[in-house]
Amino acid sequence: MNAVKSLLNSFFEAIYPPKCGVCGSISAATVCDQCEQELIREELHFIQPIAHVDEVWAFHAYEQTSAEMVKALKYRRETALEHRMAGDVLDVYLAHFSAVDFIVPVPIHRSRLAWRGFNQAAGLCQRLPKNMVREGLVRTRKTTPQVQLSAQDRAKNLEGAFESLPIPAGCRVLLVDDVFTTGATASECARALKLAGAVYVGVACFAAKRREFPASLSSLACDQPEEDR
Ligand SMILES: [Zn+2]
Repeated sequence: MNAVKSLLNSFFEAIYPPKCGVCGSISAATVCDQCEQELIREELHFIQPIAHVDEVWAFHAYEQTSAEMVKALKYRRETALEHRMAGDVLDVYLAHFSAVDFIVPVPIHRSRLAWRGFNQAAGLCQRLPKNMVREGLVRTRKTTPQVQLSAQDRAKNLEGAFESLPIPAGCRVLLVDDVFTTGATASECARALKLAGAVYVGVACFAAKRREFPASLSSLACDQPEEDR
């Protein structure tokens, strides 16, 4: 039976050879050697970059290969990349956030979940300690896709779009997302978490856009709809 199975596998692999989820070249690995080499690790750390968020850590700048990975996962549904990207989120957690009380992925609206079939932020939590991850935030309303809006309007668009379950007093929460660009989504999520009782909200993400300080929403160009959920 196993021989038949492996013969069938070889047959399908000959017709549909496995491809790199980023560049599409033939590769047995989810991310080919070339793309792995181009995925340069760089620690980005922002302290209180935007209202309600205490700090942000990412191990990739949001550009080139890392940006391609974010887009491939979200828009081309290259879900095989999720496990690889979740490994980077795990590294961020272990290095900087292991003292938090629990972890919350940024939610997407249920209608978008039905359309896309998965929430990329929840997927990036798959390698984090299971007992720490809670679906503690709810997206209460569907919002206009952020890509259609100016930087200032993006923040306004998300006002009150999230609600948190009650949080025991004094808890430190880690918010997980795929990317941090303007920070509008993280800020609104953190606002909801702090209203519910959190004393600290950190953000771990796969990639973050470089930013200069002092930064304001209006000064940041954003070519990726982080909040296009
Ligand atoms: Zn590749």
